[in-house]
Amino acid sequence: MKSERVIVVGGGVGGYPAALRASRMGADVTLIEKEKIGGVCLNKGCIPTKVLLHSTSIYEEVKKASLFGLTTEKLKIDFGALLARKNAVVNRLTAGVASLLKNKKVKVLNGTAAFTDTNSMKILETGEVVNGDKFILATGSVPAQLSLRGSDNIPLLTSDDLLNMKSLPNSLLIVGGGYIGVELGQFYSRMGVKVTIVEMLNRIVPTEDEEISSALEAALRKEGIGILTRTTGEKIEKAGKNKKVTLSGPDGRQEIMASEVAQSVGRRPHYAGTNVEKIGLKTERGRIVVNDKMETNIPHIYAVGDVTGGIMLAHVAMAEGECAARNALGNQSPLSYRAVPRCIYTAPEVASVGLTERNAIEERGSVQVGRFPFHAIGKASLMEETEGMIKIVADKKHGEVLGVHIIGPHATELIAEAVLALELEVTVEELAHMIHPHPTLSEGMGEAAMMLSGGALHLP
Ligand SMILES: Cc1cc2nc3c(=O)[nH]c(=O)nc-3n(C[C@H](O)[C@H](O)[C@H](O)COP(=O)(O)OP(=O)(O)OC[C@H]3O[C@@H](n4cnc5c(N)ncnc54)[C@H](O)[C@@H]3O)c2cc1C
Repeated sequence: MKSERVIVVGGGVGGYPAALRASRMGADVTLIEKEKIGGVCLNKGCIPTKVLLHSTSIYEEVKKASLFGLTTEKLKIDFGALLARKNAVVNRLTAGVASLLKNKKVKVLNGTAAFTDTNSMKILETGEVVNGDKFILATGSVPAQLSLRGSDNIPLLTSDDLLNMKSLPNSLLIVGGGYIGVELGQFYSRMGVKVTIVEMLNRIVPTEDEEISSALEAALRKEGIGILTRTTGEKIEKAGKNKKVTLSGPDGRQEIMASEVAQSVGRRPHYAGTNVEKIGLKTERGRIVVNDKMETNIPHIYAVGDVTGGIMLAHVAMAEGECAARNALGNQSPLSYRAVPRCIYTAPEVASVGLTERNAIEERGSVQVGRFPFHAIGKASLMEETEGMIKIVADKKHGEVLGVHIIGPHATELIAEAVLALELEVTVEELAHMIHPHPTLSEGMGEAAMMLSGGALHLP
């Protein structure tokens, strides 16, 4: 039997898993990518930011060496070496993906794809036409642009620029206090740059639980990062070697000088030039419309990842890519968004899944909340990382876990247990009765659940 021809457009974390899954399911797969395999996540997003943050976290750890009975020579940062390592890790991972694709016999075409009709695409650079039975669009997103007076003449840096600076600026102003702004802000601050983060809303990382974002704000301020909330950028001007930015906030107008000014104000879906409108694919407010099976309004065309304007995270794109491949090849497999983890790789780390306390109250009327501090966890104490907490928001009547919010050491790893708990509709009682390994930070999850079911053991 002739296998289905699946065309995947975009080789990011939405597209390449779709291609791999489709190939594993027996399809004849072609992947078209105009830039680099790996897309934003591997080349200019998740991976490079985390490589840089990992270096600064080791740096901070080594600074505390004497607490662990270790003596070190004077510690220095080699910014050039750090950037070189970032590039090396990115190259290693993108080469790994390329070899997986090769191994699975996915045909990779380099170029920009555009529909000519609903069953064929043209590679614009070469004119080659590829026909397919099924199409999976994973063309991603581009940075949203801030409308700041003067930014036409003085372009604001993007996260791409911040990941590729050749030398360290004296000072850096970042407009936008979402997760990308705070991660890159902390990296540069820890490299000795004077960093100010400006956020329009009343708190940084505003989609997180209020208590958690306040705790993160306090921790970043303590490190010397300037944070201005309820503040918007109005205008940017040149001021000698510096840039002068006029801000408007609760105390009126103020001017801030910075050597570099960046913007990190979200991303918007990207499908320009692919002719999706011409072939009648439904779009809405700049995104491709899909259902929970990643189906568009045209039966054999699917869309996944950032281009659908949903939850713009790598692990979501990846799950959607696989989901689209399964459905394109005959399965009926909707994707559950019940338990999508959100992670911020600052120090302290932040991770969450499910409803914030406020959202849970809005949805359920009233809820119960258990908090367990890291200072009461033996492992955190021996690691000298005792700040932060695990917070569980649960249904009042049956104790079903509705949301888990963590700020503290290894929060981004610990959250995986909470993802399972939410996906399987676990109650706080069940979570409290599970045996957690000792000594580990995960004991905190059990203890936070015990707070709502019989009382914590390791708190007075
Ligand atoms: C600085 C930064 C840090 C981030 N950190 C995290 C994180 O820690 N965790 C997390 O979960 N998410 C993170 N993200 C978000 C994550 O990177 C995105 O959600 C993810 O990359 C989306 O994947 P995608 O496949 O939908 O799109 P993309 O990664 O944008 O890939 C789309 C690909 O399609 C290609 N393409 C576009 N149009 C065409 C065309 N016409 N023809 C051929 N190819 C085309 C593009 O070149 C690109 O390679 C971060 C993002 C940024 C910017």
